[in-house]
Amino acid sequence: MALTDLSIATDAKILPIQEIAERAGIPGEALELYGNYKAKINVDLVPPAGSLGKVVLVTAISPTPAGEGKSTVTVGLADAFRQLNESVVVALREPSLGPVMGVKGGATGGGFAQVLPMEDINLHFTGDIHAITSANNALAAFIDNHLHQGNSLNIDPRRITWKRALDINDRALRQVTIGLGGPAQGVPRQDGFDITVASEIMAVLCLATSLEDLKERLARMVIGYTYQKEPITVRDLGVEGALTLLLKDAFKPNLVQTIEGTPAIIHGGPFANIAHGCNSLMATQTARKLADVVVTEAGFGADLGAEKFMHIKSRKGGFHPDAVVIVATVRALKMHGGVEKNSLAEVNHDAVRRGMVNLAKHVDTIRQFGIEPVVALNRFITDTEEELTEIFHWAETEGVKIALTNVWEQGGKGGLALAKLVKQELERPTDFAHLYDEADSVEEKLRTIVQKVYGGADVQLTDSAQKQLVELKKYGWDALPICMAKTQYSLSDQPKLLGRPEGFTITIREIIPKLGAGFLVCLTGDIMTMPGLPKQPAALKMDVGADGEAIGLF
Ligand code: ADP
Repeated sequence: MALTDLSIATDAKILPIQEIAERAGIPGEALELYGNYKAKINVDLVPPAGSLGKVVLVTAISPTPAGEGKSTVTVGLADAFRQLNESVVVALREPSLGPVMGVKGGATGGGFAQVLPMEDINLHFTGDIHAITSANNALAAFIDNHLHQGNSLNIDPRRITWKRALDINDRALRQVTIGLGGPAQGVPRQDGFDITVASEIMAVLCLATSLEDLKERLARMVIGYTYQKEPITVRDLGVEGALTLLLKDAFKPNLVQTIEGTPAIIHGGPFANIAHGCNSLMATQTARKLADVVVTEAGFGADLGAEKFMHIKSRKGGFHPDAVVIVATVRALKMHGGVEKNSLAEVNHDAVRRGMVNLAKHVDTIRQFGIEPVVALNRFITDTEEELTEIFHWAETEGVKIALTNVWEQGGKGGLALAKLVKQELERPTDFAHLYDEADSVEEKLRTIVQKVYGGADVQLTDSAQKQLVELKKYGWDALPICMAKTQYSLSDQPKLLGRPEGFTITIREIIPKLGAGFLVCLTGDIMTMPGLPKQPAALKMDVGADGEAIGLF
């Protein structure tokens, strides 16, 4: 039988989580067990460290349907560091059921570079995402109850910006009408659903630094406006305490392990195209207390997750990555060079060469932040020597550090060359600088991202985005970082423009203030905060055996 991620994960030897905790230096009293192989970490009981570990951020070229293997390389790199006797913890995001059920692919790595128990992690894990969904929808219910009970805050039902949430791709719920059926059923109004990973509560949970901070951020969230257009916050409704209570366990990072027994902390999972795309600050900072090296990833290409890691997450945490890895594959570069998915098996030097411009742009972006990236060329068995040589030749000419990785097939051993290169980078000081200051105007911040990170010409705001900007300035909310909502497939806002498009203008159609998270979401192109399912969802292949084992989960 052909090996699948699930079959490899099921056959792997998994250690009791207490052993992994011990390996990571987490005291027994800080561990809250969720069965034998998962635990929550009570971070208050983790002793302070003399110095915090260095951070390796794994990012990638713009994703294509060929798959890049960013999580796979992240896990494999951490295992490789462990093989080099480094103290290491890997810090990942929690998978959303949206992509798990929709497009084939979870978020637990692949082959022999996976985190375990992959089936639990990809499904309900420790319930964090459900808790976030509940908190999100409890808030929605409190808002509608407030309208029904007399609306003493004078909330304009047409200006409620808080949406309901569900952790499933369900396009039919993007716009809904609620409260129909007469006065006993509430106040009718138009509403909508976002996928939970785009909920502001997910971002708040990922950026909060303590339970107190979590409560304060929840209190600050704007849920809509009065008839006089004054903002209404969660604090006005008086429910921040209840929401924090619903999230108190979800706020604790989760401990699991890789196939090779490297400690893995998996916590929080905002998407990088419609949210800020990084695991929780609590998880990363806890990992830094425990290990000398923390390997973490940010979603999609360096234009999305990595840019937000630098400008939002690590800025809030007061640190920056010490090294950056950019994952690329021959297959994906060929797609950027114009090859269709069903022709990827054919050798095509020209396409590889043409597609390399996408990798080159992401290398350039990371360099602009003052960090010299290392490219991880994630090897697939279909890759030919000539195509790989082509890429190495380019890297040599451009002075780009590159290592071939084979962690999918070999686990940590297949990542040793990469780990050695990354280690050299960790030993060198970086020259890190943000590309924009929070105090810059919104227009300047947007232009900087478009020109320096996307390589575009300019940015334009629709009339309604212009109006929103005027309001933002009026309330003094413009000094926040930007969280772009943009297609992951292209550096531009047009998903079909692969490679390295140039001369394009990005259109901002909506600016949504997220005061709890502390950023301004700027929607570009046709990007949706509630995705849809594909024609053949991954769910069609899934089943469960008579003894309860998962079938067809990748
Ligand atoms: P990303 O994080 O970029 O979305 P993943 O690491 O989740 O990608 O990998 C996506 C899928 O591709 C997984 O099913 C994984 O097993 C597979 N994959 C990744 N790298 C390889 C490889 N080198 N060879 C074969 N399959 C791979």
